[in-house]
Amino acid sequence: MEMNRRDFVRTTVGASLAAAAPRTLLAQAPNVMTPKTTNPVVIASANGNKFKNGGDMTCVHKAWTMMTQGGDVLDALIAGVNIVELDPLDTSVGYGGLPNADGVVQLDSCCMHGPKKRAGGVACIEGVRTPSNVAQKVMETTDHHLIVGQGAQRFARSIGFKIEDDLNTEESRRLWLDWKRRIDPEHYLDPEKRVEAGHRAMMAMVAEGLIDRQHIHGTINCNGLNAQGEICGITTTSGLAWKIPGRVGDSPILGAGLYVDGDVGAAGSTGRGEANLYGLCSFLIVENMRRGMHPKDAGLDACRRIKANTIEKRLLNSRGDPNFNVNFYMLNRKGEFAGVALYPESSFAVCTEDGPKTVVSEPLLQGKPTD
Ligand code: ASP
Repeated sequence: MEMNRRDFVRTTVGASLAAAAPRTLLAQAPNVMTPKTTNPVVIASANGNKFKNGGDMTCVHKAWTMMTQGGDVLDALIAGVNIVELDPLDTSVGYGGLPNADGVVQLDSCCMHGPKKRAGGVACIEGVRTPSNVAQKVMETTDHHLIVGQGAQRFARSIGFKIEDDLNTEESRRLWLDWKRRIDPEHYLDPEKRVEAGHRAMMAMVAEGLIDRQHIHGTINCNGLNAQGEICGITTTSGLAWKIPGRVGDSPILGAGLYVDGDVGAAGSTGRGEANLYGLCSFLIVENMRRGMHPKDAGLDACRRIKANTIEKRLLNSRGDPNFNVNFYMLNRKGEFAGVALYPESSFAVCTEDGPKTVVSEPLLQGKPTD
């Protein structure tokens, strides 16, 4: 086979490094030698450029920095979302995430590695602050793609993760107690009424400014592409606030909360998980991009699918549109990216060589979900 000059330089420099370099340098050598082919980019939900957990970088900034210094794309993205998982101020992800109806924080996460064509996830895991790291271990050390509940916790314990009794912070517990106080205990006998009462109490708490509307649902999805065209993604969440214990949304489900095809691109979501699960929209978006759609059009097509599938009256507003929001974040192999949402006033985080930014997402519909 003929070797071009670039390959020759890479091979010969790599070979001479191999003779001289210690193991750690060797591991980095291909990244250093490979010519730049795409502009590296990291995109995430808006909380990816908000929380710093007392440090000096947001998630997208950290992930971009690690990635462009030669780190594995997925390692870099997970280091980024760890900041949000560990920051008690984000009540939608990891430690301090709003708990389920029993006051227990249950977390979901999944990750996909484009070049390795591997994936891993955990759902309903309790006691581990950073479920993204456990999802990565499922991917790296098991033959499985998804481990849930007690089994996920036992798996995490067995490979050395610290298991804590309670992931509530003072704030998440205070808000849960407030929610609990508003529920008529009689309704516990009727699951439907209980859900309705729970929803009403939650909306009252939003109206009173106790909970950010964004954090009823709330998650971080983060996707990255490095200069070599390698794509990975991670999604991690505490899921829907006050959910029925054991409820799993879209976030840890491959094709729903996240989908990556290393040859095409990545897509992930935040917002009402049930709506996204029904249509496996991250998969739909990546397939759209495979057929040549721009990330923005691919995402808006998924928003249209959600609108078309939402026909139950309880889920519609006065205009007959969905009364909830769903957001998608996607990038393709060329480095084109977009954030889209059902409704305006959504944004997403992005980091390129121009630095980290928060950008307004493209909405499908007008007005507010609840009008
Ligand atoms: N999609 C997540 C879920 O349904 C929550 C969110 O992103 O808002 O669990």
